[in-house]
Amino acid sequence: MIDITLLGTSSMLPLPERALSSAFLSCGGHSILFDCGEGTQTAARKAGVSLMKTDIIALTHYHGDHIFGLPGLWQTMHSMGRDEPLYITGPEGLAAALRPLVTLAGALNFEIIPVILPDGGLELETLIKGFKHGSKLTPFKTEHRVSSCGYCFTLSRAGKFMPDKAKALNVPETMFKLLQSGRSIEVDGNIITPEQVLGAPRKGLKFVFSGDTAYCDTLTEAARDADLAVFDATYAEDEQEQTAVEHGHMNFTQAAKAAAEANVKRLWLTHYSQMIKEPCEYLDLAEKIFDNAVCGYDGLSVTLEFEE
Ligand SMILES: [Zn+2]
Ligand SMILES: [Zn+2]
Repeated sequence: MIDITLLGTSSMLPLPERALSSAFLSCGGHSILFDCGEGTQTAARKAGVSLMKTDIIALTHYHGDHIFGLPGLWQTMHSMGRDEPLYITGPEGLAAALRPLVTLAGALNFEIIPVILPDGGLELETLIKGFKHGSKLTPFKTEHRVSSCGYCFTLSRAGKFMPDKAKALNVPETMFKLLQSGRSIEVDGNIITPEQVLGAPRKGLKFVFSGDTAYCDTLTEAARDADLAVFDATYAEDEQEQTAVEHGHMNFTQAAKAAAEANVKRLWLTHYSQMIKEPCEYLDLAEKIFDNAVCGYDGLSVTLEFEE
């Protein structure tokens, strides 16, 4: 299962109840922070989420409303005694964007390691020891005014375990769990692969975080059949459609269209302009196009579970 918590839902200006862009994902005791705008730490405290053991921070782009929370967060991690390295990923320009932030943060007792993810995504256990097997983080290109990307997090699910087949292959019961989790094992000098004892792979889970973007095909393709999509909804009204396109954002209707086109299960709107005082007053614009749309707010959380 995957837990997702929206931390910051504002764009450009932090508001009393709205921090700047950020969302937190945890899965099997490991975690990813998507963007880290100003106010992320406070929002996490309010939501009861600890960021201290975050394994990787995935930045969608380097506008201040998505990264200015980083030096403060790093200092807190330092003062809380963190010594595990912290991986940071982002689109083109990552090293240059990190340099002044690292300078601001000063000496830290943990390492900050920039990582460029391959286009096809990265199996996270290959980078972070112990990250749940089958967890993959994949960036996709978005349409903003600067180099930008969104992220797709997927958790695959192995087929149903067939104990009779495992017993017939002399697999001791103590090793069942390894095969169930998708790992190969060795028994009496023979390699037993999960495929030998598992049924067909079952539907996994998928979470998509758009970052700042206009409606684009790469977004709808990346979000295809996602269980949860968190999409840019900087503008509310339909009259602002062209403004949204020009600024590399979406309005409520465009975000809902993208969710419908991608056939996602549920949509959370986020990254509201300060002009939007009460996002829920505009929700019907999105619901007209996509039923399962929700106005995101700081602290909104959900647990995504495998279907039976
Ligand atoms: Zn932004
Ligand atoms: Zn931006």
